[in-house]
Amino acid sequence: MDSTAFVDRRHVDFLLHEVLGAERLCRYPRFAEHQRDTFDAAITLAHQLAADKFLSHNRKADLNEPRMVDGKVELIPEIVEAVRAFCDSGFSGALADFDRGGMQLPFLITAMCDAMFCAANAGTIAYPTLARAAANLLEVYATPEQKQLYMQPIVEGRYLGTMCLSEPQAGSSLSDIKTQAAPQDDGTYRITGAKMWISAGDHELGENIVHLVLARIQGAPAGVRGISLFIVPRWRVDESGQRVARNDVVLAGLNHKMGQRASVNTFLKFGESGDCVGYLVGQAHHGLAQMFHMMNEERIGVGLSAIQQSSASYQYSLAYARERRQGRHPDQKDPTAPPVPLIEHADVRRMLLQQKCYVEGGQMLVFYAALLVDQQRDPDETIAKESSQLLELLTPIVKSWSSDYALRANDLAIQVLGGYGYTRDYPVEQCYRDNRINPIHEGTNGIQALDLLGRKALMQDGAALRLLLKRIAATCVEARAIPDLAPLALQLGATAKLAGDTTLAAAQRMAKGDARRVLANAAHYMTLLGHLVVAWGWLRMALTAQRATETATVLDRDFYAGKVQACRHYFATELPLAELAARLVSEAEGSAFEMRENWF
Ligand SMILES: Cc1cc2nc3c(=O)[nH]c(=O)nc-3n(C[C@H](O)[C@H](O)[C@H](O)COP(=O)(O)OP(=O)(O)OC[C@H]3O[C@@H](n4cnc5c(N)ncnc54)[C@H](O)[C@@H]3O)c2cc1C
Repeated sequence: MDSTAFVDRRHVDFLLHEVLGAERLCRYPRFAEHQRDTFDAAITLAHQLAADKFLSHNRKADLNEPRMVDGKVELIPEIVEAVRAFCDSGFSGALADFDRGGMQLPFLITAMCDAMFCAANAGTIAYPTLARAAANLLEVYATPEQKQLYMQPIVEGRYLGTMCLSEPQAGSSLSDIKTQAAPQDDGTYRITGAKMWISAGDHELGENIVHLVLARIQGAPAGVRGISLFIVPRWRVDESGQRVARNDVVLAGLNHKMGQRASVNTFLKFGESGDCVGYLVGQAHHGLAQMFHMMNEERIGVGLSAIQQSSASYQYSLAYARERRQGRHPDQKDPTAPPVPLIEHADVRRMLLQQKCYVEGGQMLVFYAALLVDQQRDPDETIAKESSQLLELLTPIVKSWSSDYALRANDLAIQVLGGYGYTRDYPVEQCYRDNRINPIHEGTNGIQALDLLGRKALMQDGAALRLLLKRIAATCVEARAIPDLAPLALQLGATAKLAGDTTLAAAQRMAKGDARRVLANAAHYMTLLGHLVVAWGWLRMALTAQRATETATVLDRDFYAGKVQACRHYFATELPLAELAARLVSEAEGSAFEMRENWF
């Protein structure tokens, strides 16, 4: 494989330009100075940088996890170089205003650039992308002075950042966090508490680390309504931004992870010596709502990272299946005939096609969500409002469906390589380990499913879901006009109706007081909506491919035929699973709910 083959650039262009019409974003005043060429140039730069500086140490970082030496984090030098190269190329300011020295790129294009790095090395890229998400939160909620002191240096690539939510006793349930903030006469706060699992929590990669910390101001109400958000810098700085003293944030230990070992994961203690200074961001007691700005961006980021790590292992397994020869067809009895390449075997093709369905279907979902982020700026207020509604509904699906099915794709990639896939001589086992975190962090997939069925699908009396179903119906109308796609359009239309009916049935049961039993099936509801939106994405891709194929080159005709075939495979083998899921939710199936602890 050539060094950039970990990403299928033809597919990237198809998705971005042919299906999603990224160039239309240039009509928005904010992106008016961009054009397709500048978008493509940024992606090409990211792709090359990802190959040269990130992919090149992916395995080394896996074998040499961060160490704590004399209270400091020690990383391999390649991580330092890669993060520097990312920042020096301007990617830390990819989304930021031109006035701040940023690139002012759309979120969609930034996500596509990030996709290159995630496919190359998901651990190392976590440092600067976490920092960028912290800067984006500060852009919305921080004071002008806070922006100057803590956001601007992140945009310039000098500072990095973290999100400090979890505590040893409070992971999924953030309402139970205990970290305290004591108000001081000078308007600052003294922070005390412990934060667990903090990614990129301590290192020497930049001049400073901006921790965004959730804590309770003394006397605040219990639960999530008593949580506030604070900037807690690793180094305190004066008004001119000069470092004056270390803040009282102590690295208490490292967590030793299964994968993504390039990114250090830390246990941090705040205010052990009573001298940890924090600065309130936005309104007191609104911290969790504000933090959601960063969490929602990170949830799309988790979906993106997951699907890119499965994309990388799909590309490896595809290349391997084309090269390795093994066995003959079932009806070939001549033992002297040369063995055929693995890809000739129908079962290997099934495993490759299933990966293609998950990977490219998941990419469509993730990048559609990224486009919706940008479309919230559309000058047409209706489009802007609808984009926000859809994004809110789709965010838990982007996070969960992508991370669940990306992992299945990784598993299939290992299977395609057989015994070699299980060894550390090939990269697919690392892809699997690196990807295993994604169903867990940023709100476990179980919590996302509860959020989807318990809140998002029903919000505003089901308005977002109705909007989604309306858009799906519009695609079905277009596809019905193309004979090859008409049966798929009918199938999708029927599944969409089922999703609407199932949601109504679940809502009615919940209204009658049966919420616990209904929500026990939330994971099935996630399968129903996830499979539905991914099928919609596949039909949109197949429509685009079908329309383009007549005037396409011979090579492109194969490319487009592959899209239509994968769409068919998805509709034949995956979409029917949505029917089972719908039945379980409608009936509020109770075998797990009724199972008792002492029966295990
Ligand atoms: C590598 C890594 C990086 C991380 N990075 C960060 C970071 O940078 N910042 C940060 O703040 N945190 C971070 N986290 C923490 C992460 O977000 C939490 O691990 C996650 O939210 C789950 O919390 P927990 O581990 O305490 O599990 P628990 O909350 O104990 O959950 C255990 C299991 O129980 C289920 N469960 C829990 N509550 C419920 C419920 N009410 N209903 C149904 N099921 C439930 C969960 O779905 C899960 O399957 C990171 C974690 C890891 C492993």
